[in-house]
Amino acid sequence: MAIPASRKDDKIVSGKRLNGIRRFWRLKHMWLGYLGEYSGIFYAAAIALMIFSLIIQARLNSLVKKYSDVPVASGKDANTCVREMLQSNEVYGVTIDHVSGSMTDNYNPRNDTINLSDTTYGKNSITAVAVAAHECGHACQAHSNMITYKIRQLIAPVASITSRFSVWIAIIGVIIMSSAKSYEMSDLGYSISTIGIILYSIVVLFYLVTLPIERNASRRGLKAMKEFGWVSDDQYAAAKKVLWAAGDTYAVALASSALTLFRLLLMRNSRRR
Ligand SMILES: [Zn+2]
Repeated sequence: MAIPASRKDDKIVSGKRLNGIRRFWRLKHMWLGYLGEYSGIFYAAAIALMIFSLIIQARLNSLVKKYSDVPVASGKDANTCVREMLQSNEVYGVTIDHVSGSMTDNYNPRNDTINLSDTTYGKNSITAVAVAAHECGHACQAHSNMITYKIRQLIAPVASITSRFSVWIAIIGVIIMSSAKSYEMSDLGYSISTIGIILYSIVVLFYLVTLPIERNASRRGLKAMKEFGWVSDDQYAAAKKVLWAAGDTYAVALASSALTLFRLLLMRNSRRR
């Protein structure tokens, strides 16, 4: 986002005349979240996303609860379904384990284990079977040649590190820019901030590849539910709602990370002298 030349010149002139009070005023604006001329767009998007994410989370919780007490038509429990699905996909060597908590289910590619939570392990509810089939979908992905899954596995450890400090690097750069007394110092702040922004982009990229992988795992699980007749037609529709609502939380995570990236860019650009 380029600042028009005339405005940039204004900033340079006023920057030279900054006294203590005005410098303080600029810093205060920064902590109030001043983001330049695009502040309005950012805050409108942030509020919309917050409301959207609350709705999605509430919907997921209510669907999970609603179908946690309804047993599947076949009466088969989550563990049996997972074994059946693994066998039909010719995926061997996967362990099924029990993990404490509710909705803490996951597939761990490091030890090739499907971890099923208290509400899933050995349970035969629609929610339990749907969640287990989804996690089994991840195990099938890991055992296939799915390129996006492999990319995600490569990015995951890097994103987990950069997510911890990249935002702070960008903010430190912005602080240096805001309090810089020379153009060299301001440029240094700009460069530091840019490094933070590039590192944070890896986090956004991670969520970008995660979303289609999550949808794909749900599709694999739903296909098995239908093929093996674990559920009735009505129950299939219910399972689909649960898995799609769970997938929506990843869409929110992606939107939220993209918004954070947008914010960092605005913070950096609105302080450029
Ligand atoms: Zn998943």
